[in-house]
Amino acid sequence: MSSTGQEPSIFTRIAAREVPATIVAETERIIAFTDIAPQAPVHVVITPKTSEYSNVVELAAGDPGLLTELIEVADAVAARLSNGQFRLVFNTGASVGQTVFHVHAHLLAPQAAGGTLGEGTLGFR
Ligand code: AMP
Repeated sequence: MSSTGQEPSIFTRIAAREVPATIVAETERIIAFTDIAPQAPVHVVITPKTSEYSNVVELAAGDPGLLTELIEVADAVAARLSNGQFRLVFNTGASVGQTVFHVHAHLLAPQAAGGTLGEGTLGFR
């Protein structure tokens, strides 16, 4: 239980190494790990370590520099794990599928050289 009385989010617990995940990138303020239920050949969740912002609108208003950092991490991850091109999705609100209210981006991309695009995966048709 945190000092605010709220349970830490699953992403906070991953950043704290309390929950296992395949971490693919980490900076002082950002962590990126593979999604447990991938929707594309490369599907990485990129999230600030702070749980202060529940969605991208709050993050943009509250700490635009941190949002920029998150996008820089996305670019670096796509360069390493894919071909440098990527889709970045921020679900914002339960009605569009947001389930974790700790701001995060879904990085969706094809596999690195030689990989094929997954037929039927999110937008990769
Ligand atoms: P959203 O639906 O936009 O809130 O995205 C939450 C994402 O977190 C989903 O794609 C989940 O598959 C992913 N997720 C939830 N728990 C874990 C976990 N323990 N490790 C990796 N990804 C997770």
